[in-house]
Amino acid sequence: MKNYYSTANINFAEIEKEAAKLLQELFPLCRSLSGDGVRKTYDVLKNVTDFNLTEIPSGKKVFSWTIPPEWNIKDAFIADKEKIKIVDFKNSNLHVINYSIPIDTMITGKELKPHLFTLPELPEAIPYRTTYYKRDWGFCLCYKDYQKINDSEIYRVKIDSALTKGSMTMGDYIVRGTSKKEFLITAYSCHPSMANDCISGVIIWILLLKILKNCALKNSYRFVIGPETIGAIAYIHEHHRALKHVSGGFVTTTAGGTGKVGYKKSFNDTSEVDRATREALVKLNGEILSYPFSLQGSDERQYSAPGLRIPTVTITKDKYYEYKEYHTSLDNLDFVTSSQLMETFSVYVRVIQYLEQNVTYKSRTPYCEPHLGSLGLYPTTGGAINPTNDKSDTGTITTDDIKAMTWILFYGDGKHDLLNIAQLTGIPFESIYLNYRRLEKHSLLQETR
Ligand code: ZN
Repeated sequence: MKNYYSTANINFAEIEKEAAKLLQELFPLCRSLSGDGVRKTYDVLKNVTDFNLTEIPSGKKVFSWTIPPEWNIKDAFIADKEKIKIVDFKNSNLHVINYSIPIDTMITGKELKPHLFTLPELPEAIPYRTTYYKRDWGFCLCYKDYQKINDSEIYRVKIDSALTKGSMTMGDYIVRGTSKKEFLITAYSCHPSMANDCISGVIIWILLLKILKNCALKNSYRFVIGPETIGAIAYIHEHHRALKHVSGGFVTTTAGGTGKVGYKKSFNDTSEVDRATREALVKLNGEILSYPFSLQGSDERQYSAPGLRIPTVTITKDKYYEYKEYHTSLDNLDFVTSSQLMETFSVYVRVIQYLEQNVTYKSRTPYCEPHLGSLGLYPTTGGAINPTNDKSDTGTITTDDIKAMTWILFYGDGKHDLLNIAQLTGIPFESIYLNYRRLEKHSLLQETR
């Protein structure tokens, strides 16, 4: 018999240890849209908790897109005439443009430079670049190494990669609840060694899956992991009928930086996931840092498409584009720590608590307030009230409880849910939920969906 989901049952210290271990294990792997780096990533995640894997063959059409060839890489370098390696893939897998074609040639510095990417404004950083849909090759390097390249000198350039007819790996798992309501929790697994974008999101994803699998739940949660964009498109291609019924979603990414926890709104900021997220941020942080919905982002673009329209938010700590280390080698394990990641994780688990407890209901006494006193839900002596010692079978009734109960009854027209009432009244969700349960226990309310 599983326990009902409650943040009170989560061992945060144990989870943080697991997150720290995962950061170390996942960071070095050379991930991409496909290939063995992604498979190794999934092997590490499956040690935390199991999920389903699907291999989608290269060349398969998914809507107007095509699954790309599988990419794997063994080694790459740029060496000078003394055979000294100026750039070595073994030092950082960001050095090679992801999806570079194989090459082994001698070339002048002048011919090489159009294939080099560097960041003069961040001279210590190696940028992250990809060439998924154009057959090309290139290297990324620190500006100080770039400056060592002479136009007239000859260099050996080698990329020992392979683009083959293989497959792209996707993972998923549905944790079933008792109601028909379903939420999507999705992460992307295609970025090589960067800690905030995307490993932090992958870690949140697997830790949430582990927790939810071990709980009795009201809602169902559909977990999806794969490469960004093409992975979401491929998943939607196979599952769009089921996805039409999903009430809201989360893209877990950029969750462990040094900045403040905030959230990127969905296209509809009155959606249940938006409201639950704002309520959790107020509860845990006392403020709401929010970013507007935009199409410059991640897989919320696909899941928000006209045929699905799943309101999808991202709870983030240093959102993509907002930190200088973004898409560089400085997005590393100095920048992201397990304790920072846990701040975002705490918001996610609180949001899920609210989604589990949120209810739309109707009052069974719609023509006037019920007589709460006769049910032990109101102080029996009239006048100035401070009924903190007034016990009933549902616990001590306080002035705040009475306020919450009267608002819950007031909004009992079937058009409001508990999150909505918390936000309309400013009463914390926990108090709204507790008092909803009190009234429901006395058959004063009826859940409508
Ligand atoms: Zn990215």
